Amino acid sequence: MNLIEISNKFPNELSCIEYAENLRFGKKPKCAYCGSKLLSNRRIDFRHKCLSCNKSTSVTVNTHLHNTRIPLKTWFYAVSVITDAKKGMSALQLQRNISVSYPTAFSMFHKLREIMLTQNKKIDDLEGVVEMDETYIGGKPRKFNNPCFEPKKREDLDKQIKYYKKEGFDFTPKQSSKAKCKDDAKRGRGTDNIPVVGIVERDGNVVAEVMKTLSYENLKKMVKKYVDEDDSVLITDNYRGYNSMKKIINHIKIDHKEMYSYRGLNSNSIESFWAIIERGIMGQYHSVSPRLLPNYVAEFVYRYNNRKDTAFMFSDLLKCLLKTV
Ligand SMILES: [Zn+2]
Repeated sequence: MNLIEISNKFPNELSCIEYAENLRFGKKPKCAYCGSKLLSNRRIDFRHKCLSCNKSTSVTVNTHLHNTRIPLKTWFYAVSVITDAKKGMSALQLQRNISVSYPTAFSMFHKLREIMLTQNKKIDDLEGVVEMDETYIGGKPRKFNNPCFEPKKREDLDKQIKYYKKEGFDFTPKQSSKAKCKDDAKRGRGTDNIPVVGIVERDGNVVAEVMKTLSYENLKKMVKKYVDEDDSVLITDNYRGYNSMKKIINHIKIDHKEMYSYRGLNSNSIESFWAIIERGIMGQYHSVSPRLLPNYVAEFVYRYNNRKDTAFMFSDLLKCLLKTV
């Protein structure tokens, strides 16, 4: 939802509170302490008095927003601008957009990132043609597949394509990656940055995790956690950590020294995601502390997976903020 829509739909604090009550309690507001529906009329401070337990209650009681001094309207605007910022946004920019102090903007942003991290954990069913790759956040830009490049004929890969096509897998990507960068850019491995591993389903969801050691055991654990191994073909580069992947899943390796794409076998979808995350983190955040990196990654994953439905992101994040904790 953009700012015009937000300001039309939520012109004042009361409209935000009513929307929030509906998200949390349904049609009729309840007491957040005892669940009773017997409430006094709304007082001037927008709170209710519970006629059953006598406590003063509001929609933010016992939620992530308990004791928040920031008006709900400001939270609504923050969620709206954050979900709309495809390439990320700095806390400084958020501070300017919603007129709060820098520490407030920073902590609001991190609260939302933690929620995104929790929501991302619900994904566990990637299937079909899935691409897996790793990047190093903070490294130099990566080489991109050149779509004009016509690779040499490769019989071994042709055989694999023929076999998996019979099994029903289609390697033709619906979206093509437009991102390209210089040929002399150094790739991630070999630079001193933090590895992040991602798996994406073609035209579907992405998952990405910070991984301290890129070992087969860790990579395998990630595949098992997120991918339906029986109904998928995994495409990776020929990094040695992926060598034994065929033990658990259909696996095709592409040697990036030779080529980046062969008849639809490529890792363009995950490369596009890396491009967004790298430009976002380098462009907006400049540097990220290793401790908080998983949360920054979660922000980009969440936005990517819900890219077609910003209205859903808006209500989903608010609903999570207003969950009883
Ligand atoms: Zn009560």
